Amino acid sequence: MTTPRLDATHDPARRSWVPSANEPGADFPIQNLPFGVFRRGGDGTPRVGVAIGDQVLDCWLLSGAGFLDDQPGAAAACRTSSLNAVMALAPEERLALRRRLAGLLAEGEEPLPAMLVPQAQVTLLLPAVVGDYTDFYASVFHATNVGSMFRPDNPLLPNYKWVPIGYHGRASSVVVSGTPVPRPTGQRKPPEAAEPVVGPSRQLDYELEVGAWIAGENALGQPVPLAEAETRLFGLSLLNDWSARDLQAWEYQPLGPFLAKNFATSVSPWVVTWEALAPFRVPAFPRPEGDPAPLPYLTSDANRECGGVNVTLEVALESARMRELGLPPYRVSRTNFRQLYWTLPQLVTHHAMGGCNLRPGDLLGSGTVSGPEPEERGCLLERTWRGSEPLTLPSGETRAFLEPGDRVVLRGWCEAPGATRIGFGECWGEVG
Ligand code: MN
Repeated sequence: MTTPRLDATHDPARRSWVPSANEPGADFPIQNLPFGVFRRGGDGTPRVGVAIGDQVLDCWLLSGAGFLDDQPGAAAACRTSSLNAVMALAPEERLALRRRLAGLLAEGEEPLPAMLVPQAQVTLLLPAVVGDYTDFYASVFHATNVGSMFRPDNPLLPNYKWVPIGYHGRASSVVVSGTPVPRPTGQRKPPEAAEPVVGPSRQLDYELEVGAWIAGENALGQPVPLAEAETRLFGLSLLNDWSARDLQAWEYQPLGPFLAKNFATSVSPWVVTWEALAPFRVPAFPRPEGDPAPLPYLTSDANRECGGVNVTLEVALESARMRELGLPPYRVSRTNFRQLYWTLPQLVTHHAMGGCNLRPGDLLGSGTVSGPEPEERGCLLERTWRGSEPLTLPSGETRAFLEPGDRVVLRGWCEAPGATRIGFGECWGEVG
């Protein structure tokens, strides 16, 4: 694993000729430059774009106008309708593209207003064609909380501190932020009942997660050593792993999540690149005294020293009643991505250790990001302790799990001394 590289693209003194990018607290300053896919006015061909302030830089137009002619791989990738080709670029090509875009958008360069379209005038789409989706379970706080509810006598299973736990999820139902989330129907077995019943889930929940988009490809049979894992991370989105807890409790043993999770997974439309996150890298989560050290294939000095990423994460809830009353979304939890027991490079290396080929556009969910405090719990199952401690919303309503019309809004941002704050935008969804 290599240490993160800081260069002129991270310079906090750099400003853009796009005025909204220079506003303090903006999610998309020139130091960020997240990639996405958009459509003008809701129709037309999907195009690759980059968020800058409240605008989108149209990379299709930019490429067509010759601004990337000396980067033929990037120029071609920018004239496609998803980020898969951008994610397939070599690490040095991705870095060169970032540097070019940062240069073109910098204050002092000739403004290119014809290359911009206001974000308010575009429809943002799923950033990539997701070939495969894997969801991990990398927060030891989440794993311990959930385990203590489902298995009070045995909360954290003995493999947890040795092996990054995950399952292969469903790629077809990964949707972009804003897509409605229907309430799933399924089997659940009330504790007092002799047999299961079929019906709409009564315990619909969200999971506050970070999604990691894979770059490049390893051949089948070819593992990804930890030293190379960072080159396989294109960037991060916010991710909501919607979960039906009543279905999950009945179906999850012995093979893990299935219908409780496969009805929808939402991601934010902008992908904050791994390069943009360099100023916000932090040491891996310090393992408590007495925990086993990671096995050698998951160990390196660089991973220990800067394998983590400092991303503040928030989840807010807005009921239909709150919307009627004009009340803003109510913050339910705030936590930090740096508290994960396993780092993203460790998750990549573990995923591929048996030779599993990871491909551009594959998506890895981190697992629910929870911290040690109640206010840091990343799902309602934990936050309301399986419904036994309901939340009271500003409208006076209470919530154990999600009710029809509820909107869940995830937000994330990075701050560090000497760096410009960057944000992820939003990932939201309304449940039926
Ligand atoms: Mn999950």
